[in-house]
Amino acid sequence: MTIMSWVDPVIGEIEEHFAEKIKRNEPLIIRDEKTLSGKVHIGSMRGIIIHGLIAQVLSEKGIENDFKFELNDFDPMDGLPVYVDQEEYKKHMGKPLFTVPSYKPRSENYPMVFGDELKEVVQPLGLPIDFYHLRPLYEAGKFNDVIFEALNNAEKIRTIYLEVSGGGKPSDWYPLSVVCEKCGKIGTTQVIDWDGKFVKYACKPDYVEWAEGCGYEGQINPFDGAAKLPWKVEWAAKWKVLGVDIEGAGKDHYAAGGSREIAARISEEVFHYPTPFDIPYEFFNFKGKKMSASKGLGASSKEVADMLPPTLLKLLMIRKKPNQPIEFDPEGKTIPNLFDEYDRLSDHYFKRHPEPFEGFARTFQLTQINPYEPPPDLWQMRFTVLSFVLQMPHLDLETEAAKLKGSALTKAEKEALKERAFYVRQWLENCAPDEFKYTILTEAPADLELDEEQVNALKKLKDEFSDESLEWEGASIHELIHKVKEESEIEPQKIFQPLYQIFLGRDRGPQVGWFLSTFEREDIIHRLESVTD
Ligand SMILES: [Zn+2]
Repeated sequence: MTIMSWVDPVIGEIEEHFAEKIKRNEPLIIRDEKTLSGKVHIGSMRGIIIHGLIAQVLSEKGIENDFKFELNDFDPMDGLPVYVDQEEYKKHMGKPLFTVPSYKPRSENYPMVFGDELKEVVQPLGLPIDFYHLRPLYEAGKFNDVIFEALNNAEKIRTIYLEVSGGGKPSDWYPLSVVCEKCGKIGTTQVIDWDGKFVKYACKPDYVEWAEGCGYEGQINPFDGAAKLPWKVEWAAKWKVLGVDIEGAGKDHYAAGGSREIAARISEEVFHYPTPFDIPYEFFNFKGKKMSASKGLGASSKEVADMLPPTLLKLLMIRKKPNQPIEFDPEGKTIPNLFDEYDRLSDHYFKRHPEPFEGFARTFQLTQINPYEPPPDLWQMRFTVLSFVLQMPHLDLETEAAKLKGSALTKAEKEALKERAFYVRQWLENCAPDEFKYTILTEAPADLELDEEQVNALKKLKDEFSDESLEWEGASIHELIHKVKEESEIEPQKIFQPLYQIFLGRDRGPQVGWFLSTFEREDIIHRLESVTD
């Protein structure tokens, strides 16, 4: 058995917890959801990928399962994102999301503008996800029984709110929101009576701050989509309606007296349904200063997914245990480090590492898009090298790659190189910090200061470069520089720094032998002459 990603022991616990159900070959139901009230924040991807990974690994072990992801299109519209037409959409505040019109031609309604985008982001990850919409379940009567139970147990639910959160509901509060028959809003209505068949409700002008009710009062049969449960009650109701076995949630739901605790008690005490196996997960901290500032909201799933190939997006989300926060700074070193980590993990997977570690190999395997197909062993160019080559107008990417690999690239390697180059280029254009940006100087910096020792060493280097018997390639140039360094008895940085300085105007750069080999030998000799004469 392969083990050692955090997911494996979690699967072990699940197997133990649901041993009977698994024995009966009944599918384990995994669930997660997103209310489609705006662009889906990148933090939500963590839940999708954690649940998706659990589904993937259960399937890998032959355990039947179904990961249902809810696109919640029935909640009230309770906020106006900055990127929608404020005037146009203000009038829809308080309506069920699915009744709000789309502003994108391809999406059927307002929430699906965000739902379609989310699907587009999730699809390339290859996770087994079964998307469903909430509203049709209500309309089909699937929630009728739990609505009935909730209304009959209104007092018990009020007590649970009070006991868990300390913030009680008024004694005339019922756990239900009716869609107003007159104005179509759901966020503005309050149920004021329940006689076992009908609810009386009032659509109040000042019930909530973000929407205005029409003042209508009516009586309605609250089933088949005419009303919906408020979200903490609904959370528990969904567990029962869908038969959920496994569902985790983000840290914000787990504060003492928080929503998870309320939902768990309602589930057990009102609906008599066991709380699902839990996987709480920590925050995803997005640190892009430029991006956050310009948008005022952090980053959407789409924006971050666009920065990374799907395998790396998966790695970003699964490399840490769920109980550890994820820090993501696209304007710092997060992205280069992530690519390097991916390459390191692949060294363990393909046993290129002298002491391959099974846990790293396992993590690599879990990042793959098709878990049933062994990934091909590809030569990949390191992120930092690739980012350097792309900034050098005199270099051809494939030629340099073949030089570094030591042989021609295979077709698959060329494709992988092209894909990686696409992401690196984007990163350079949009967010790379200055330390990763290079420009080749047309001449050595005028203020370059060299002491006598350095001048002598560089002169010697120039003479050696002029020797035609020296093969003009990375390894031999590298060896030669070390030889000159030894012979001149000079500190390493005193010879390396000026080599970067005279071409890049900075103290550091890519591996120096390879770097010099990318230029014509004569150009190097001339440049060295210009600083040593
Ligand atoms: Zn109304």
